[in-house]
Amino acid sequence: MTNMIILGPQGCGKGTQAKKISKELDIPHISTGDIFRELRKEDSELGRKVKNLIDEGNFVPDDVTIEIVKDRLKKKDCKDGFILDGFPRNLFQAKSINEVINIDYVFDIEIPHDVSVHRLSGRRTCSNKGCGAIYNIYLEPKSKEERICDKCGSNLFQRMDDQKEAIEKRLRTYHTETEPMMEFYKLKSNLVVLDGTATIDEVFEEIMNAIL
Ligand code: AMP
Repeated sequence: MTNMIILGPQGCGKGTQAKKISKELDIPHISTGDIFRELRKEDSELGRKVKNLIDEGNFVPDDVTIEIVKDRLKKKDCKDGFILDGFPRNLFQAKSINEVINIDYVFDIEIPHDVSVHRLSGRRTCSNKGCGAIYNIYLEPKSKEERICDKCGSNLFQRMDDQKEAIEKRLRTYHTETEPMMEFYKLKSNLVVLDGTATIDEVFEEIMNAIL
């Protein structure tokens, strides 16, 4: 059983690493960002609320977020472990989840501010939900045509929250709300800090070495 959390500023590659870990260890990758992006499409009061919050780069309220995560972790597929990506985002969320479940490892992938901004502002996502491929106009993987997905031919788009103002806001919130939470995990001594400017494979190898 390996219960893991992966953290780091936006653009540090935590989603990429979480996907690789999930595949390697056959445990679910639970991204609160992905859960909220799905909810955002729903024509309901909660869907509309989440849409406004996400698009402006604000947090979804703690009570909603914590409830959703607790419910998700109760599902059968989490029995051998899970990798949580994008949660917790503040000390309150960290303490709430700590009360109900043991966390074996917390990975914090660090990158400088300007690297975050560069990576996020270049990110383009496939509009086809079944595909969801992610490219970058500045970095690899680049699509052959700037606006078209190589894999399925659908249009690529820039997430509202990957636009300049929202990026700056999300990074500010990361520094004020999420970074102070690291102390909590440092004291529990299950925090592993990684250099997110290394290659995807190097970061992944470090994670695997820490687990095995
Ligand atoms: P992400 O893709 O992880 O950057 O998440 C996208 C957006 O979803 C964030 O900007 C927040 O609006 C929302 N979100 C994701 N995770 C959380 C969380 N743990 N607490 C509050 N809001 C969250």
